[in-house]
Amino acid sequence: EPVKKSNFIHSQIEKDLQEGKNDGRVHTRFPPEPNGYLHIGHAKSICLNFGIAEKFGGKCNLRFDDTNPSKEEMEYVESIQKDVRWLGFDWEDRMFYASNYFEKLHEFAIKLINEGKAYVDDQDAETISKQKGTPTRPGQESPFRNRTVEENLDLFRRMTLGEFDEGSRVLRAKIDLASPNMHMRDPIIYRIMKAHHHRTGDKWCVYPMYDFAHGQCDYWEGITHSICTLEFEVHRPLYDWFIDQLKDSDYRPRQIEFARLNLTYTIMSKRKLLELVKENYVNGWDDPRMPTISGLRRRGYTPESIRNFSERIGVTKVDGMIDVSLLEYSVREHLNKTAQRVMGVLNPLKVVITNYPENQEEELDAINNPEDESMGTRKVPFSKELYIERDDFMEEPPRKFFRLAPGREVRLRYAYFVTCTDVVKDENGEITELHCTYDPASKGGNSPDGRKVKATLHWVSAKHAVKSEVRLYDRLFNDEDPSGHKDVDFKEFLNPDSLKILPDCYVEPFVKASKPLDHFQFERLGYFSLDYDSKTEKPVFNRTVPLRDSWAK
Ligand code: ATP
Ligand code: MG
Ligand code: MG
Repeated sequence: EPVKKSNFIHSQIEKDLQEGKNDGRVHTRFPPEPNGYLHIGHAKSICLNFGIAEKFGGKCNLRFDDTNPSKEEMEYVESIQKDVRWLGFDWEDRMFYASNYFEKLHEFAIKLINEGKAYVDDQDAETISKQKGTPTRPGQESPFRNRTVEENLDLFRRMTLGEFDEGSRVLRAKIDLASPNMHMRDPIIYRIMKAHHHRTGDKWCVYPMYDFAHGQCDYWEGITHSICTLEFEVHRPLYDWFIDQLKDSDYRPRQIEFARLNLTYTIMSKRKLLELVKENYVNGWDDPRMPTISGLRRRGYTPESIRNFSERIGVTKVDGMIDVSLLEYSVREHLNKTAQRVMGVLNPLKVVITNYPENQEEELDAINNPEDESMGTRKVPFSKELYIERDDFMEEPPRKFFRLAPGREVRLRYAYFVTCTDVVKDENGEITELHCTYDPASKGGNSPDGRKVKATLHWVSAKHAVKSEVRLYDRLFNDEDPSGHKDVDFKEFLNPDSLKILPDCYVEPFVKASKPLDHFQFERLGYFSLDYDSKTEKPVFNRTVPLRDSWAK
């Protein structure tokens, strides 16, 4: 694992601890809105929040930020829990929902009304927005700003009972219409929504705004450090204002902002990811091309590789773009150390060993992982008919092609030296098979006379190999920043060749005993993982990444 670096948030927490704030407690939370599946950007936030709890001996809550009933669903709630656990983190008994606090938030709103710090505005959102002014010009008062407490209490009660239409009234905090911070100009804190909520059903006709809910939930959960992305920096004075109205001791949660993760060739907005799913541009949220955690898992990423990636990119205050090849590097690095090696042929060409006895077969020893001796060895069946990779043969090889060619000798990995003696073609001139001879003395892959060959090829025994489907993935988008173009929809940049299905591949027979998400290195080709669509008689593999980064820099 990479050395765990300290970041600026750690430093601020250390300072808070030195100053004895919040009785020396450290308590964070990860607060997803259950309106989609988690993506790699969320993984950064998960690693950061749970990582802080680990580092400082504190706690981290999982909190569903479910204040917007129109977009939230139980399916998302379940997938989020699964993904956080899979990444290796545990909220123990601290899973909460913002909707747990609807009652308390409503009481708090009434307290603000009673203190003359909130009022019901009968104007629509558009009018309110127009009156807000600009950062350099103060806002205009709403004609409803100076209603009596009694009138506000009565109207808010009737909003809550569902007497008014959606959009006809809102509750606003009464703060400062001249504040240079637009979020302080009497923000809306409650709106009428006659929507069915995935947890509270039809109980509520009014719902709190995100800004009115988030900090208060932090407060009630005893959160000490509320870590969020940079766009909330301007909301911080409002966060603090609400806490000021609420707090009754020295304890107060503190908001700290960091730069969100952006990755090249990827989009990270849940709304856009949902669009790809809904409109069938991909095969669901866990399509291996998606930047979702479930997609990466299905693609063959490991939790360790994602955690190492998060550690490597660090935490900063400046928005930037991380090269997706760094994510690919992290998974290669982990799988190199842990993945079982196997020989698999993606584009098969039959080879007949003419001097190998007709009914003979044997088993050769192969190393399961040269990086980890404890993974041991396995037996690979060998027989008269084999498959090699079609690309590993050329009838008229150019100067730098060292693999198999007519008259040339190469090594079959773990097996023998073979020499190509004949090329068999069909009536169209297509090569259908090769005839080779083998040198029985070279068993295991070395010739006793010290003869050298320039290439070692992977292969499988035709009779023993299991026919498999292999799915090769390329980047989902062919533009570095698909959502960064002003007048062009991000979908215009979808890569039409992002999925290539090879239905007739052959892999060593032992893979039949594997289970979905098992990881392999196909020798010379890359890292692959067994897909959920696999059947014992026909495994399906997803290519996680090729062995080397093939994209030119
Ligand atoms: P979207 O706009 O796609 O809906 P969001 O930020 O609203 O994203 P949430 O479910 O609210 O998504 O996010 C939960 C947590 O994850 C928040 O604390 C948020 O700051 C963090 N997060 C979301 N996206 C990223 C990202 N790209 N990088 C780092 N953290 C992120
Ligand atoms: Mg959102
Ligand atoms: Mg959000």
